[in-house]
Amino acid sequence: MPFCPKCSVEYLAGFQTCNDCNVELVETLEGITKKEEEKNIKLVTIQTFDKSVYAHIIKAKLESEGIECFLIDENIVTMNWFLSNAVGGIKLQVKNSDVEKALEIIKNNQEDNVEDC
Ligand SMILES: [Zn+2]
Repeated sequence: MPFCPKCSVEYLAGFQTCNDCNVELVETLEGITKKEEEKNIKLVTIQTFDKSVYAHIIKAKLESEGIECFLIDENIVTMNWFLSNAVGGIKLQVKNSDVEKALEIIKNNQEDNVEDC
């Protein structure tokens, strides 16, 4: 999965640039990353939203499945000026160990709610 070389945030495949740093993502941080992953829990951005309502629905869904997740949104931006690039978009982040399960839940949830959107 691609990483931001500046802040080391991990993104899902398909993301090209880091929203926070505005730099091009690199494919892997070989070696370094593996060591870091063993030591640290890393947060992975698995989806971005432009509607906070939907983001909160997904967050509630993931939490009901026991997955800890975080929304990086406008509320956080006001507290963290360096995240100001994220205004207008909401990032859903989960722990790297929960990515696969979270994606599965999101996928199922989207299929369930297609007609509601
Ligand atoms: Zn970055």
